[in-house]
Amino acid sequence: MSVLSTPVTKMIPVARPYIGAEEEQAVIDVLRTGWVTQGPRAAEFEVKFSAYIGCDYSVAVSSCTTALHLALLASGIGSGDEVICPSLSFIATANSIAHTGATPVFGDIDLETYNLDPGRIEEVISPRTKAILVVHQVGLPADMDGILAVAARHNLTVIEDAACAIGSEYNGRLIGQPLGTMACFSFHPRKVLTTGEGGMITTSDAKLAERLRRLRQHAMSLSDVVRHNAMQTTTETYDEVGFNFRMTDMQAAVGITQLSRLSDFLQRRRYLAARYTEALQTLPWLRMPMVPANCRHNYQSYLVRLVGAFAARRDAVMQELLEKKISTRRAIMAIHREPPYRSERWDHALPQTNLATDTALILPLFHQMTESEQDYIIETLQALSS
Ligand SMILES: *Cc1c(COP(=O)(O)O)cnc(C)c1O
Repeated sequence: MSVLSTPVTKMIPVARPYIGAEEEQAVIDVLRTGWVTQGPRAAEFEVKFSAYIGCDYSVAVSSCTTALHLALLASGIGSGDEVICPSLSFIATANSIAHTGATPVFGDIDLETYNLDPGRIEEVISPRTKAILVVHQVGLPADMDGILAVAARHNLTVIEDAACAIGSEYNGRLIGQPLGTMACFSFHPRKVLTTGEGGMITTSDAKLAERLRRLRQHAMSLSDVVRHNAMQTTTETYDEVGFNFRMTDMQAAVGITQLSRLSDFLQRRRYLAARYTEALQTLPWLRMPMVPANCRHNYQSYLVRLVGAFAARRDAVMQELLEKKISTRRAIMAIHREPPYRSERWDHALPQTNLATDTALILPLFHQMTESEQDYIIETLQALSS
């Protein structure tokens, strides 16, 4: 493959959602029923999501950010509390903590997996620490055994930011049979399954599920569906300050259809990821994703890291690829570098996070990416070596 064989005329995007005719029809069907906000389709999506994941309860909401916000609130997290999370994550992870009035406190990552390092958690625990918000970054499950052990020693709640992790497995079980108290998923178009915007909270705790259902809907004591179907006049009450974090039935109808495609999505992503790994693992300046033996990756993103002389050239490499019509992304921001979260405390505390955010990048990977597009990307990367 020494000659660049594939003529590429259009930019290869880093990601692209797969949305078919069935999704279009599902939305039209909902529009024609007249029930366009959260209703029967959202309830059906929850049931089907629980069946897929193998969890007891699923609560549909408007995004993963609002899912995380509710999960933290339902755990009693608020002003004066600290919640430990990785800095190497999308900013929504920390924002959801800040929205409760609590303070995010950053633990460093394991550079091989890009996930929270259980060995680096205890150094940031304080008397105010209430919870750990674990991220399964780009879909690779975090070291939950290690993290749960630390949490148990310090009596901390564990919530999973599983935004990217639908279909990923840990110790042979799907992420979302929560290993902590709750797991939160995103259906943003950048994730494996999309509803446009949307999120889901899964839990095994019936009381938590009920509380989440109320909080997402203004803390209303009766749901719209119950009021709609009631044969006697009903009067609802509002026992606390709630939110409007509802998922619409248009979104849920798309989600139901996407769920039926999920095994295809996962199979394709794993196939393309294996092709990348096979072709690129011999490049001395690239580190492939490392998947621990007890994990199964969904490859929401294919994340590589530049090492050696290339480590300092990440942005130049990205620019070179862009000029060759290959779109990449700097892999995963470091939240502690953004103005709302900057503090001297983090300046020297997160060396692995800094290294990862400065030297990693995401290669294109999406359902409809063709083998010839991928070959072109592989050949272009191989040509950079010389
Ligand atoms: C995408 C993402 C979120 C936010 O999800 P939304 O549904 O867009 O709110 C949160 N955490 C992580 C790790 C993410 O990747």
